[in-house]
Amino acid sequence: MIPVTKPFLPKQADFKSYVSSIWARQWLTNNGPLVNELELKLQQYLELPHLLYVTNGTIALQLAIQALDVKGEIITTPFSFVATTSSIVWQGCKPVFVDIDEDTLNIDPNKIEAAITADTTAILATHVFGNPCDIEAIDRIAKKHGLKVIYDAAHCFGTKYKGKSIFAYGDVSTTSFHATKLFHTIEGGAVFTQNPEILKRMALMRNFGYSGVDTFSEIGTNAKNSEFHAAMGLCNLKHIDQILSKRKELSQHYEMRLNKIEAQFQVIQADTEFNYAYYPVIFRSEEVMLDCMKQLELVQVYCRRYFYPSLSALPYIDKVNMPICDSISKRIMCLPLYHTLTSADQDLVVRIILRTQNYRKKQVLKLADYGTMVNGSIGMVVNGN
Ligand SMILES: *Cc1c(COP(=O)(O)O)cnc(C)c1O
Repeated sequence: MIPVTKPFLPKQADFKSYVSSIWARQWLTNNGPLVNELELKLQQYLELPHLLYVTNGTIALQLAIQALDVKGEIITTPFSFVATTSSIVWQGCKPVFVDIDEDTLNIDPNKIEAAITADTTAILATHVFGNPCDIEAIDRIAKKHGLKVIYDAAHCFGTKYKGKSIFAYGDVSTTSFHATKLFHTIEGGAVFTQNPEILKRMALMRNFGYSGVDTFSEIGTNAKNSEFHAAMGLCNLKHIDQILSKRKELSQHYEMRLNKIEAQFQVIQADTEFNYAYYPVIFRSEEVMLDCMKQLELVQVYCRRYFYPSLSALPYIDKVNMPICDSISKRIMCLPLYHTLTSADQDLVVRIILRTQNYRKKQVLKLADYGTMVNGSIGMVVNGN
C-alpha cells in the first residue's frame, strides 16, 4: 500500500530517553524545559529571534487574528486547508475571497484591491504547498490600505525566501507541526512575529491571559503544548536536513519521469529555497484526474485531492464564484511523497498515470473515428434525400 503521506518517525530509543527525563522531572506541560528547548532549537535552526510553540496550526491562526485585533473583513484565499477560513469565521470575522494565480496557486495580488472595503482590516494568505506568496505586492497593498498581514505558513517548514525563513514575513506568520507535515511534533504549531508587543500578547493569550500568579491582562485561551509533543519535535529536528533533501530527491525523480504527462505544475516563486512539501499535479480535466486516481487505487496507491473542494463552497460561507480556484481544485491531485517512499514506488505511480492518460487518448481517438463514421452515414442519408 502506498499512501499519500506517512509521518516521519525517529528512533524509538531517542524518544524514550526524552520520556525518561519527563518521568524524572514529573513536569508534563505548562512551558516545561523540553518546550523551551524546542523553541530555542527552532529559533537557531530557522535563524529567527522569536517564536511561540503552540498546540496546533489552527489555534496559531486564531491567536494571530486575536492578537492583531483584526475585526470585520479579512481578505483570504479560497485555495487552502479548511482551517484558514474556519479560523476567520471562528474569530467572528468575515472571510472575503480573492481568486488565486493559476501558476503559483497563491492568492492573486492583482485582484486584492478590488475586494477591499471600509470594513477590511487584514489579509490572511496561505503560502500554498510551501510556495511563497507575492510577499512584496501584498506588503505594498497592506501598507497603502493600513491592513495587517497574516501568513498561513503551515506547509512551509524549511522554505526560505530571499535568504530568510519564510516565517519571518508578515505581521504574524503561523505554522503547523501536525503529524502529516514535513516537520512535526505529532500535534503542534507555532506563531512568529518580529513585533515585540504582538509577541507578548500572543504569549499571554497562549496561557489563559495569565500575567502573574492571580492576574489576567488579556482574554486568553489554552494554546500551550506538552513536554511529550516537544520531545517528538526535538527528535525529529535532528533529522530535518535529511528529510528535506530526501523530499527534494523524490520530487526531482517525479519531475523527470512525468515529463510526458499532459498536466500543469505549480510555478515556484523566484528567490525561493523550496521545501518540496507536496507533489501536486494539475490534470487537464477532473475526469482524467479521477480516472488516474481510480486506476491508482486498484493497485493500492492512494493519492489525495488537495485542496478540494474550494473553500468558497463551504456551507457557512456566502457562495462566490472563484473561477480559477474552482477549476484547479477540481483537477488537482497530490502524489505520494514521504521519507520512506522508494523510486520503484514512484515509477509505479507514474506508469499508471501515463498508461491511464494514453488509454484515454486512444478512447477519445476511437470516439472521434466513430463520430466521423456516424456523421458520414448521416451525410449519405441526407445526400440520398
Ligand atoms: C495543516 C494546516 C493547518 C492546520 O494545522 P493543524 O496543526 O492541523 O491545526 C492550517 N492551514 C494549512 C494550510 C494547513 O495545511
